[in-house]
Amino acid sequence: MKALLYKKGGRANASICQVPDPIVAENQVLVRLMACGICTPADSGHDKGTSMLGEYPVVPGHEFAGIVEAVGSEVKHFKPGDRVAVDNGAPCGTCYFCQRAAFPFCENYKALGQSIDGGFAELVVSPETHVYRVPENVSMKAAALSELTGCAFHCIERCEIPYSGDVLIIGSGASGMLLAMLAKSSEAGTVTVIDSNQGKLDKIAAKGVNTVLVDREDYANHEKILMEQYPHGFDVIIDAAGDPALSERTFELLKPQGKFANYSFSNTEKKDITLNISLIARKELNYIGTTFQHHDFEKVLRAMSTGKVEPELIISRTYPLEDYFEALDENNRNEDLIKIIIEPNGCCDGK
Ligand SMILES: [Zn+2]
Ligand SMILES: [Zn+2]
Repeated sequence: MKALLYKKGGRANASICQVPDPIVAENQVLVRLMACGICTPADSGHDKGTSMLGEYPVVPGHEFAGIVEAVGSEVKHFKPGDRVAVDNGAPCGTCYFCQRAAFPFCENYKALGQSIDGGFAELVVSPETHVYRVPENVSMKAAALSELTGCAFHCIERCEIPYSGDVLIIGSGASGMLLAMLAKSSEAGTVTVIDSNQGKLDKIAAKGVNTVLVDREDYANHEKILMEQYPHGFDVIIDAAGDPALSERTFELLKPQGKFANYSFSNTEKKDITLNISLIARKELNYIGTTFQHHDFEKVLRAMSTGKVEPELIISRTYPLEDYFEALDENNRNEDLIKIIIEPNGCCDGK
């Protein structure tokens, strides 16, 4: 089959080439890949040789969906032709945290597209237990974003947005938009997104979300507008930008007993943030960490099927697998792009 293969980290060690088809074990499902998203931090990490999770050789790509091609002899719930999304996470099952069913915190965590062959290929194999049926009204491209949507979904669950609460989301990138759509369809009273890119704000504004443009030269400008609109601040603030200077300032816009969710972070550099402990104590504020998915694929696909989140809104372009490197370069160069989908087996519209 054709695949994107990194023999080691770094572009010089990568090529789109022919590799042997994966062998299907008794409990595994062989999937013909229809759509696989480029994840900027993870896939740039492989390409720059800075990935902290990469184990080589590997086929990257961890956001994918496709059609079942074949199944192992012990597979009971899937058959060739089924439309499926695959959970790329592969916790070990035997460490301390796995034995407590805290799988995302597995001490030996592996993942397709990081340390096991993933989705930038014509075919992939996965254990049946990590495969999920895609509802008929969910496209292959949307289903490919189940993992990313799952990360946002878990964040929204962690935030426990109060009924009629005011929510602020920092950043209107792929995650920021998914978070905004999920917050909008939650108990929230209002949802506001801030970003320095007007085009991205216009996109999410179409979903009935309030938007405010950030002036990167002077954060006081957008804060003034926010304080006019929400003089008492916000119940929940979610940081989907990972800019410590902006996080520190925005933290101060919480209402008493408000929650600040630290969602975005850098894979390559340690970033610190300074918080006012007097403010935290007096206003009973909460600082929450959340970023990875918690294997909620079934719930996430249902949220897509019922229109609570529309991942297609964040898809900017599609490319064939042969043009992967061009797609990745464009992804990293063009700030107006949100999410690029690779189609390893030709155009997947209508499949
Ligand atoms: Zn990712
Ligand atoms: Zn484990």
